[in-house]
Amino acid sequence: MTSQNVIVSDRNPILGLKTITVSVSNSPLFSNSSPTYFTFPRRTFLKLLEAADKNKNNNTPKIASFVDSMRDSSPTRLRSSSHDSVSDNNNKTSWIVRFPSALTMFDEIVNAAKGKQIVMFLDYDGTLSPIVEDPDKAYITHEMKEVVKDVALNFPTAIVTGRSIDKVRSFVKLNEIYYAGSHGMDIEGPANENSYSQSNQGVLFQPAREFLPMIEKVVKILEEKTKWIPGAMVENNKFCLSVHFRRVDEKMWPALAEQVKSVLLDYPKLNLTQGRKVLEIRPTIKWDKGQALKFLLKSLGFGNSEEVLPVYIGDDRTDEDAFKVLRERGQGFGILVSKVPKDTNASYSLQDPSQVKEFLKRLVEWKRKTVEEE
Ligand SMILES: [Mg+2]
Repeated sequence: MTSQNVIVSDRNPILGLKTITVSVSNSPLFSNSSPTYFTFPRRTFLKLLEAADKNKNNNTPKIASFVDSMRDSSPTRLRSSSHDSVSDNNNKTSWIVRFPSALTMFDEIVNAAKGKQIVMFLDYDGTLSPIVEDPDKAYITHEMKEVVKDVALNFPTAIVTGRSIDKVRSFVKLNEIYYAGSHGMDIEGPANENSYSQSNQGVLFQPAREFLPMIEKVVKILEEKTKWIPGAMVENNKFCLSVHFRRVDEKMWPALAEQVKSVLLDYPKLNLTQGRKVLEIRPTIKWDKGQALKFLLKSLGFGNSEEVLPVYIGDDRTDEDAFKVLRERGQGFGILVSKVPKDTNASYSLQDPSQVKEFLKRLVEWKRKTVEEE
């Protein structure tokens, strides 16, 4: 049979086997150009076939699109060869012209901030910390922590992350900032009293509270269903969850994505989105990092103000929601952290967390100078 271009001789004989090796080529599920071989436990394989059959009949994104786009968003997987490196270089040059470095454009950015209050929004993974193999070890450096603290003492500052607040706070250990965890679905004000926090202590907002039991259940199911895939990791982010691909062999990405998607068939109130080596599962409420940005600006008294300059730095697809809000408001700047050209709603770019640190340092120095001059 050749359903989905998964090639096995017949469906019935495989029922007696413990494991099944299949060749996959040119398939809508697996878009690799050359055939790839997978060995699956028999039960898993049958479930995959079942899920693939269901996939054929619905309009949800195909596994291949998740996997392809995950490869594209991973800087270690630049699709270039000596043959097309000239056009790649041209693309990179035209991209950097459209989204210039925030370091090069620093003066323009601070000029735009004259007479306005800068409010800083910072993503965590890939922005303040490098993307590491083990997401539990995505530590922030001491130097970066000190810089973020300086930023928070000079400007209202929020960390906006897909992680749970507890997890990101355990990394950052700063009390001076706002935390918007679970993709903005869990917002807390600074624990320390400072000029920005007096009326905003404690929990500010949890728009997805009713989804807590569902998320906890799905975490357990996913842990069970993905434990046969080496390196697969399910992270409970309280109001949402992440399935990390970072430690999974790339050949197994389609299988892992398929497992995740098959679980979600039973949970129509949960949405699946893709990030850098991660699939994110979130409640289908209309709330994202962009909404969190709006909420925080409003809480700070800048809901309809012209006297604010929000700056949002992030590296992920989910940060695009915030970049888009800034574009729509015609206010402030989105800065995308990326070494490779990507479609983005940001205005500027920075290559990696060390450039983010440099930018934040310069911002603090600029602020100190401006205060001295006043
Ligand atoms: Mg990130």
